[in-house]
Amino acid sequence: MVNWEQIAEQALVYWEEFNAWFLGMPIYAQVLVIVGVVASLVLAVILVYYALKGVVYLIYYILKGIYLLIEGIFVGIYKLFEELYYAISGKPKPVKAPSDKECCEQVEPPQQSYDEQEIIMPSQKEIQIVQPDAVYCSECGSQYTEIMLEQLKENGIAYCVFCGKGYKSIEVKAEQY
Ligand SMILES: [Zn+2]
Repeated sequence: MVNWEQIAEQALVYWEEFNAWFLGMPIYAQVLVIVGVVASLVLAVILVYYALKGVVYLIYYILKGIYLLIEGIFVGIYKLFEELYYAISGKPKPVKAPSDKECCEQVEPPQQSYDEQEIIMPSQKEIQIVQPDAVYCSECGSQYTEIMLEQLKENGIAYCVFCGKGYKSIEVKAEQY
């Protein structure tokens, strides 16, 4: 059981002792003490702020990493089951799904030969609005390829083949909204 009255009494005693010591000092020493206390408080607040900021960033990047990891695992499992399904059923794998439900979400590359290659999975969140005549990726600085420019022109949306960053031209945005 905590005896609050006793603690309060003790605090009062300390406070009175501190007052006697503080008032007993010359004025310039009192000013120095006040300045020192204020400076320490400011420093402490700044330190706490940066510490909290660091912790928040750390948590954010950890969560993002876990999210990407889980997403990768699920995509891998899905692809594995898809392969298994076609292998077991003996059905030919459809090269292209017509009238896909996710038509608005995914932009398929026009060339079939690209299906075999490793394509960087683009994330919708990372799409950036660009001028229709932009030619360089703002993420990695690579020049847009012919295919990217074609896609940007035809679909209004394209992904950098080097880093996977998404781009949307302003013209399409104006049409959609
Ligand atoms: Zn890029």
